[in-house]
Amino acid sequence: MPELPEVETVRTQLDAQIRGAKILDIQIWKSGREKPVGDRFRNSLEGKKIIEIQRRAKLLVFRFEDGGAMTAHLKMTGRFVFVDADYEPSKHDRMLFRFDNGAHLVWNDVRQFGFVQAVSEKELENILSKYGPEPLETSVENLAVCIEHPKTRTIKAALLNQEVIAGIGNIYADEACFRAGIRPTRRIGKMNHADRLNLMRQVKELLKEAVEQRGTSANDYVDTEGKKGGFLSLLRVYGRAGEPCVNCKTPIKKIVLAQRGTHYCSGCQR
Ligand SMILES: [Zn+2]
Repeated sequence: MPELPEVETVRTQLDAQIRGAKILDIQIWKSGREKPVGDRFRNSLEGKKIIEIQRRAKLLVFRFEDGGAMTAHLKMTGRFVFVDADYEPSKHDRMLFRFDNGAHLVWNDVRQFGFVQAVSEKELENILSKYGPEPLETSVENLAVCIEHPKTRTIKAALLNQEVIAGIGNIYADEACFRAGIRPTRRIGKMNHADRLNLMRQVKELLKEAVEQRGTSANDYVDTEGKKGGFLSLLRVYGRAGEPCVNCKTPIKKIVLAQRGTHYCSGCQR
């Protein structure tokens, strides 16, 4: 699933092409994953002018001039792709947005977990208030405090919880733990303050590097130009089960933790 660096990459590209543009019309090819459904979705968005594309956690927020917004969650395989005016829809394309600046944007989703939603200013406020702090915009000290409780929770579960800290998913949770030398299975209560500071420092550095590399294409992720992210070759544990650790040569372990495949080195991580 695309995480903070991938969604941030998509956000930057969307913002560069459609900030200031007006939605002329929307063509829905495959209905069902937009809210409200069908014509109500189209009618509530056509004619709206986008003033900015923002990101909160893994959610994209297309802000309109009148205060409302369209939110979009890529989930597993959702994609925004800019296409030419004579584009013919393919199998997993769900809808086309046509803008007054000539841009044509397709929303495509193979696995169909992603969604787009028209929201009022009030609804948006409510949605955004449920997320924890943005790691790139919050100090290491403040982030370390956010993951202090509950003490029985594992580090992996804390990192994945969007109410604790926003934007981290399976890939970057595993990578951050490796960089910090801490096992993802460890309980929060078994970390001291220095451990928490170290982990959060690694989280921030990791996400910053991954944004610079335009994210990781470990599974299906591509950006709005159909390009893969550059961070894949920089992964040290994720997707490397059984391979020797880059530091100590111990084979990387893969277990299930917090319902997710979890990778770590039993040599380097304590
Ligand atoms: Zn190791």
